[in-house]
Amino acid sequence: MKKADKDHLNRLFEIGCIACRVQGTPGTPAEMHHPRAGAGVGQKASHGDAIPLCPAHHRGTHHPAVPSIHLDKTRFIERFGTEQELLILTRHALAKLDEQEGVF
Ligand SMILES: [Zn+2]
Repeated sequence: MKKADKDHLNRLFEIGCIACRVQGTPGTPAEMHHPRAGAGVGQKASHGDAIPLCPAHHRGTHHPAVPSIHLDKTRFIERFGTEQELLILTRHALAKLDEQEGVF
């Protein structure tokens, strides 16, 4: 993996689950969700499009901070937004993180 990709992913981990942020419980450790939209068959979406989601929001795994939510995709989108919208939120969160750290 390229260093730039790795740095980007590390910062996504710092943000934590983006759906948890939406519901007001930010800082949940996340794993990376790679939206498939736009990627060809058998081709992974780029790391630049990765969205941080906790296991509960990503795969429906139980998490103490996220009681019993296994939403199907439609309900997930109703509640938290589409992958595109979550990606925009992720980018906003990244920009904020950069501000705080004075990167720019
Ligand atoms: Zn979550």
